[in-house]
Order: sequence, then C-alpha cells, then structure tokens
Amino acid sequence: MGTRREFLTVAAAAAGATAAPDLAHAEAHDHQSVPSDLALRTKSLESLLVEKGLVDPAALDVMVDAYEHKIGPRNGARVIARAWVDPSYKQRLLADGPAALKELGYGGAQGEDTLVVENTPRVHNLVVCTLCSCYPWPLLGLPPVWYKTAPYRSRAVIDPRGVLAEFGVTLADDIEVRVWDSTAELRYLVMPERPAGSEQMSEEALAALVTRDAMIGVAKAALPQKGARL
Ligand code: FE
Repeated sequence: MGTRREFLTVAAAAAGATAAPDLAHAEAHDHQSVPSDLALRTKSLESLLVEKGLVDPAALDVMVDAYEHKIGPRNGARVIARAWVDPSYKQRLLADGPAALKELGYGGAQGEDTLVVENTPRVHNLVVCTLCSCYPWPLLGLPPVWYKTAPYRSRAVIDPRGVLAEFGVTLADDIEVRVWDSTAELRYLVMPERPAGSEQMSEEALAALVTRDAMIGVAKAALPQKGARL
C-alpha cells in the first residue's frame, strides 16, 4: 500500500499525463498552481489533525487505498451495464438514483444523493463541479486531477463543446449539451449510450466498455478497437 504522501505526489505527477492534453497544458501554465496549492493545504491540514491526535495517519492511508484501488469506476460501470440490459432497472435508476444504486450495494459517503442522467442521440450530458470537486466517489472512486483544475471547472460551463472536442468528443450542432454542476448534496453520473454492435455482449463484457470518462460525460462508450487487446 502506498502512503498518502506518495499518493499526493502521484496525483500531482498525473496532472501532466491526463487524457486532456490542452487542459493539462493550460494547467502547466496556470500561475494559480491549483493542484500543488491544494496538495499543500491538504498536507498542512493532515499534519495538524495528526498532531492534535484527531486522526490516525494509518487510517487515512487505508481510506485513500480503498478509494484508489478497491472502489473505482468499475462500480459505476457495473451499474450502467445493468441498466443497458435491464430496462426496468434503467427506469428505476433514472427515477430514483440512490434507491436503484442501493439495489447493487452502492451508496454512502460522498455519494448520498446521485442523479443519473442519460445520454441519447439528441442529448449529451457533461458533469463538472464549478465550486470544487464534488464527485460520486462510491461509483467512480477518486476524481481525476483534471476534474479539479480551474480550467476544467470554468471552461466546462463557458465552452462545453470546446472542452468535449479536446477530449475527442465532437458533437453535431443539433445535439443539446447539458452541463450539470455537482454539489456536496447532489452528484451526477452520466449514463452513456450503449454502443451500436454491442447487442450480443454479456452484461460483464458491456461493463468493460464503460469508462470513468464516459460516466463524467467527456467520452463515449465504445466497442474495443479492432486488434486491441481485450
Ligand atoms: Fe465540489
């Protein structure tokens, strides 16, 4: 298990290697230095809490490890795959997220109330937290570094189509883009469109098509590239 210090270092390093080259580029030149400032503040807060005996550093490592390795986007992907193969589950998931998620055993801290929004041929949903980094942790694990950056948080609202294009998603003008601003009270999960050609796939195989980015709305679910390793 890595230490929390290692985790922060890895998170900071990952800022330069995300799937959004332009956002990562912008971040490198962002004089606000958001990630390092946040990391610094987190570290100061942690030191203070440990010093006062309010938290056990080992307990923090266990929590970070749990969200990093045990809880991750696979949970969300399992939910989406179930909704794709089971129309009544899909209906329940869209109508009452928390209740339907609980059916599969998901819920709890940082995901108490989650609204699932469905992508269709006419509507594309995109999730952001303009204020900080609210995110459905029980379904997606820890938020990616780019999700917490100032450029993503502001530009997802000002120019969602431009941001999507940088992630490789180009949408026709007649597709409506809906941007959802997460809060501590309400988080969002995007249900991507089920890829054409996946009709014969098992629920488990379908879950493997659903990426973290697709559930944030910055990517689409797609069949594996021909020749790609499965
Ligand atoms: Fe937030």
